[in-house]
Amino acid sequence: MNRCRVIVLIALIASVRDPAAQAPNPDGGGVRRGVLPRAWQVSGPQCIGTPQFQVHEYNPDLIIVRESGCSNYEKPFLFLMFGQERALLLDTGAAKTDVAQVVSKLIEQWSRRNGRRSLPLVVAHTHAHGDHIAGDADFKALANTSVVGTTPAAVQAFFRFRNWPTDVVTFDLGGRILDIIPIPGHEPSSIAVYDRQTAILFTGDTLYPGRLYVQDAATFTQSIQRLVDFTRDKLVTHILGNHIEQARTAYLDYPIRTVHQPDEHVLELGRAHLLELNGALRDSGGGTKRVALRDFTIWPTK
Ligand SMILES: [Zn+2]
Ligand SMILES: [Zn+2]
Repeated sequence: MNRCRVIVLIALIASVRDPAAQAPNPDGGGVRRGVLPRAWQVSGPQCIGTPQFQVHEYNPDLIIVRESGCSNYEKPFLFLMFGQERALLLDTGAAKTDVAQVVSKLIEQWSRRNGRRSLPLVVAHTHAHGDHIAGDADFKALANTSVVGTTPAAVQAFFRFRNWPTDVVTFDLGGRILDIIPIPGHEPSSIAVYDRQTAILFTGDTLYPGRLYVQDAATFTQSIQRLVDFTRDKLVTHILGNHIEQARTAYLDYPIRTVHQPDEHVLELGRAHLLELNGALRDSGGGTKRVALRDFTIWPTK
């Protein structure tokens, strides 16, 4: 084989082995677009009259709902996405609120806009912590709604996992395929969801601008490596987690229980943050040591 052929072959092997998460041209990559707010509404310091939720339309088929810090200091995000056959809600919030009514109204509006009489709703969770499941009981009382259980066994059964946590399975909303990736470590039932339509990766409390509480360091580290591997050949427009605790000032967070965060970080992170997290876990204690990075902190809980 001549030298030129060898070089071509090496280039070919490299491109097969490491198909980078990039588009050939800076033209939007062919993914469905949407808009994130420049900043989220600030909760407090006065809470009287504050609405329980901020509703933001990323695009007509993806609604981001944020619970107000005046309802619960966790201020979690909820994500509602629509396909042709069903809608999926990821998480139900931290406090006892009107979340089921708010989401029902959003589904009604979507149905009207799309000439549909009704659309079944599936309620799933990024993980089972109390600040993500507080509205479950209200959704269970709704017609046309199924609520996925919160134990790892229930999550596995619903999404039909055979090998947890190494399988990645798909869930089809009707013309909209989601990949469900198990990422235990923050909590045993944690999942990430990759929406092929928008190329958004939803990561729950496993990666967001704030304190990444690591309950099981070895499992967490493996989950992050699997997320890196999963996204290696995919576009990732945004990584959206479920809280903002970081300030816009680098290496600075708002302490736990802070309601009023007038200068908070944006919600969205990118794949570079995932690589940064993976590198930091590899280089500094595998999740067993607290490490503050620019936009988030690895925070072991034991
Ligand atoms: Zn959590
Ligand atoms: Zn949380």
